[in-house]
Amino acid sequence: MQKKRSWAEPYKIKMVEPVFMTSPEDRKRCIEEAGYNTFLLRSKDVYIDLLTDSGTSAMSDRQWSAMMRGDEAYAGSESFYHMEEAIQHYYGYKHIIPTHQGRAAEHLISKIMIKPGDFVPGNMYFTTTRLHQELAGGTFVDVIIDEAHDPESTHPFKGNVDLEKLEHLIVEKGAAKIPYVCIATTVNMAGGQPLSLENLKAVRALTKKYRIKIVHDMTRVAENAYMIQQNEKGYSDKSVAQIVKEICDLTDAATMSAKKDALVNIGGFLAVNDYDIYEEARNLVVVYEGLHTYGGMAGRDMEALAVGITESVDDDHIRARVGQVQYLGNKLLEAGVPIVMPIGTHGIFLNARKFLPHVSQDMFPAQALAAEIYLDSGVRAMERGIVSAGRNKETGEHNYPKLELVRLTIPRRVYTQAHMDVIAESVEEVYQNREDIRGLKMVYEPKYLRFFQAKFEKVV
Ligand SMILES: *Cc1c(COP(=O)(O)O)cnc(C)c1O
Repeated sequence: MQKKRSWAEPYKIKMVEPVFMTSPEDRKRCIEEAGYNTFLLRSKDVYIDLLTDSGTSAMSDRQWSAMMRGDEAYAGSESFYHMEEAIQHYYGYKHIIPTHQGRAAEHLISKIMIKPGDFVPGNMYFTTTRLHQELAGGTFVDVIIDEAHDPESTHPFKGNVDLEKLEHLIVEKGAAKIPYVCIATTVNMAGGQPLSLENLKAVRALTKKYRIKIVHDMTRVAENAYMIQQNEKGYSDKSVAQIVKEICDLTDAATMSAKKDALVNIGGFLAVNDYDIYEEARNLVVVYEGLHTYGGMAGRDMEALAVGITESVDDDHIRARVGQVQYLGNKLLEAGVPIVMPIGTHGIFLNARKFLPHVSQDMFPAQALAAEIYLDSGVRAMERGIVSAGRNKETGEHNYPKLELVRLTIPRRVYTQAHMDVIAESVEEVYQNREDIRGLKMVYEPKYLRFFQAKFEKVV
């Protein structure tokens, strides 16, 4: 019988960045000063930074050397054409507009396609995506399957669209009121959950019937493709690159935050197949971002992105990336810590409702739990619950999401397995002492995307 064989990262480390330990006294002072909001901590006071996988990837030696070849021409930069070629080759979209990051692409497409009074269905919301839809006068409608809102459901494709919910909305509001369906791969707010190609094909068929477009939030498309390769019938012998292309081919346009899957520290783009939309976007990008051959990115960043896209769809890379997340998730599961199931692709999502059943949702349990983990070990996590969900734009009340989560997001190619062990031990310790954790009250609330800058105090 063959012994179980371990996998290891498909790279070795050429350069290191020292990080520093902090004392419990330091951390207590720091989190109080930050108003119990991990977004307001200084990174020098953080030991292992799991705030986000956005812009935090380690670039490869190939990417760093590509940066030296960046063409910083204001117009017609060669680096733009390298990036454009990579996007067209791996993703297949026709026209590319660079933007400084994902939300700028969301801004452009929302402005172009959404009219006041429109409805924009999506497989759950993302914070910036929904805000841009609303600022353009649209109303976001969640059409994800119910399982996505249940942290204990082990459905392998919790990112799937509920076709009945979608068709009901189309019939009720009329196709003319629906500029597009927004499809995210993978679904961040559901816990990094993928959708299946079978489901996407059905969404394509349905939207075709009503002549509605699909805009693809392709921020983590390679991770979604990997989960399809692993778990969807008929895809086990296809490469991640092939599956990525198949996903993109089923959609009409895409917004990309290249700071995630595509392994760069800054950048994004809008990609469209429709020439008229492209023309308008090319016009608008000049107003908000920069000329259409750089759109807010430096030439060197476009060059690094061209290489990053190629590396991001490599099977060995993506297996190790998702493998590391699953390693951490399995450790926490073994310790009985309540996490969102199945384990997602870019991070572990702690189920704060179950972790802290004695803290009511309007006392911000996930926010309190993230602060507590920082206090224990200097590991920085992020709230994804009632604070992130914001307020209802009509009533001004809190949105009360079913999911009240703390996200431990794993940067790509940055930390080792030993770091994963340290993280797991800290979360386990906090879990042992969970009954002592109290809720918070909000003492400062910004108008937009409040989770970034809100401040809290401990309730005594
Ligand atoms: C990060 C993210 C965005 C926004 O991109 P930025 O580069 O942060 O502006 C949009 N959608 C999803 C799913 C994301 O994770």
